[in-house]
This record gives sequence, C-alpha cells and structure tokens, in this order.
Amino acid sequence: MASRRTAFIPYNPKTILNKAKRADHWFWTRYSAYPYIGCQYGCVFCYCREQKYSPYDNPDDFAYVIKVKENAPDLLRRALSRAPVDLVFTGDYQPAERKFEVSRRMLEVCRDLGFPVFVLERSPLVLRDLDLIQAINARAPSVVAFSIISTPDSPNFDKIRQMEHLAPPPEKRFAAMEEFAKAGILTGTCMMPILPGLCDDEANLEAVVRRTAEHGGRFVLASSLTLSDQQRTYFFDVLRARFPDLLGLYQRIYPPKSYAPADYPWRKIALKIRELCEKYGIRDRVPRPIIPGDKRALNKRIVERLADQAYALELNGESSYRVWAYRKAAWAVEDLEQDIGLVYRTMGLKGLQSIPNIGPSLGREVARLISVMDGQ
Ligand code: SF4
Repeated sequence: MASRRTAFIPYNPKTILNKAKRADHWFWTRYSAYPYIGCQYGCVFCYCREQKYSPYDNPDDFAYVIKVKENAPDLLRRALSRAPVDLVFTGDYQPAERKFEVSRRMLEVCRDLGFPVFVLERSPLVLRDLDLIQAINARAPSVVAFSIISTPDSPNFDKIRQMEHLAPPPEKRFAAMEEFAKAGILTGTCMMPILPGLCDDEANLEAVVRRTAEHGGRFVLASSLTLSDQQRTYFFDVLRARFPDLLGLYQRIYPPKSYAPADYPWRKIALKIRELCEKYGIRDRVPRPIIPGDKRALNKRIVERLADQAYALELNGESSYRVWAYRKAAWAVEDLEQDIGLVYRTMGLKGLQSIPNIGPSLGREVARLISVMDGQ
C-alpha cells in the first residue's frame, strides 16, 4: 500500500463555498471551502472517507487519488465577494499543496476580501503561509489549529501513529503551533478523534493538554470518533487486518448502524479534558474570533457564552431540554440583525424577550451577560 503512486487529477467543480445559515458552535465558522478531495495522509480513522466527502469506489483511493480543485481560488473570490464577512474554514496542507498551492491562493482571496479563516492541520507545511495568515489575522482575527490526538508520552503512541503513519509526527505540529502562537495568531489543538481504548487514557489526555499549553496553544477541542458508510467498513477492515486486538472493543462501542459511539463514557472523558485544561490555564472550547469594529460583536460574544453554557450543561448531564434551550437562544441571538445591547438599552427585558427562543429566564441571563460584557 505504501508503495502505491499518487495520482493528481485536475478537477474544476461548479461551486466551492459551503454556506451555513449561521456559525457553528465548535469552530465558529459559517463558511467552508476545500482545495482538494482526498488526503495523502490517509489516516485510518478519517471521516473524509465517507461517501459524501470522497466519492471513490475504492476507499484506498482516498489517500492516493487526489483531486486538485484548480479553479477553487477564482470560485472563492466570486462567492465571497457576494457574501457577508464571516469565518471561513479552509486550507489543506497535505504534500500536494507544496506543488499546487491551491490553499495559498484561496488564503490570498480571504486576505484580499477581509475574510477571517480557520485552518485545521496535521501538517507543519502551513507554516509556509504564516506571512499570509498574519496579514489576514491583522484585519480579521483567525485561527490555526492542529489535529493532535497523541504524544510520545502516551502508552499507545506507537499504535496511534500506525493509524496516521503518513502524517507528520505530532512533535512537528506542536513546533508549528508555537510559531503561530509567537506570531499572535490564536492556535490550539483539535483532539479529533479521540480513539476509544487508545487516546482516552488520562496520561495521553494530560500530555496533549500540557504540550498544547507549553507550545502557546489556547484550547484543546475534543470529539469522539464517528463511523459511517464506506468509512465504517474501511475502518473495521483495517482493525481486522492490522489491529485485531481492538476489534471486539470497537464492535461493542460502535454496534451496526451507530454513527457515534453508543456505549462509551464520552461525558466523563470530556469532563476530564475540561479539568486538565483548567489545570494548564487553557480552554476546552475555541474562543470565538471577532473582527474589531463588528457592529454585532456583542451579539457574537453573547452567542459564544450561551453556547459555552449549553456545552457545560451537556457535560453535567442536564436535561436535553435545557441544553437545547441555550442552543436555540444562541441561534436566535446570532440571527438578530440589531445590536443586542441597543435592544436591551431601549426596550429592557421586554426587548430581549421579543427575540425568538428567549423567555423570561433566558432573558434575565442575557441581560446579565450584556451588563458584564457591554463596554468590555
Ligand atoms: S490529515 Fe486529516 S484530512 Fe488527512 S487523512 Fe488525516 S484526518 Fe483525514
């Protein structure tokens, strides 16, 4: 498998920009645009092997047949020139990028049009574009995060590395993180995915959080492994062939048709990560980047706090009704076109309660947040 030659296929899609109605509560991105299909790093657990992201008949092609979206920068320029400014999830620094530079040219578009970016990488090649990301960041605060799920301190490090063996080692990613931190760019770790039985021991969790803090990272955002359609089949085939000792565990945690782990103490692990982040002075959520002078900056900061509270409620095992009440309130504030501070100053609590999904209790909570944040 390792000796297979990589094929690069020129590809000209009709569209490039995926637009959501509003920013998500994890990365704070509203848009996404990707330069390549397929990834030469070919991590065994990668969700991008799912059919909707990688329409390959043979799942092995994912790592060896790379479609290069040649027209992506032009399409992006056209799409963003008509879109409200918001965070764009973009960039892909697999080895193909050295030659094709599609990510770089897409970042140039974001720089020219004043759009902030969220780049998530397993490769230190992203450092090549530090100058460009600094220029984007100077106008529109951006994020460069690194996917890191283990460190050499982990008892399972060798096995985890076998699952991402074509990707650069985590030490190089931490070193790159440090450079971005020194350049004043918000950076941190996306511990994605936490592989059951491999990445979820306390020694590994602590090592990832500690090293992130030591390298200037300001957050560790974690999520569990998901398995769907052809990616699920591929992952289990690899376990059978190369990691048979893990097969029983994963069959139990991911029974047929379960996309997310069905029998797994995810909340306990997330709480441990929260505790470790507090210990090392960083966060288990990505701080929301906000463009200076944004007329809706206060709204966005309140959305961030409401989403944080929804996550905290979820971790504490509160009812899904309460969790969703906070999420829906956050969406409503995100959708509000007026400055929420002005709404409160002119109409008081009644004004806040006229916002959909904000009743008396959440209205008081939002009023409290406004009082704390207004003028910050
Ligand atoms: S580096 Fe990221 S995108 Fe590439 S295969 Fe690994 S997990 Fe997937």
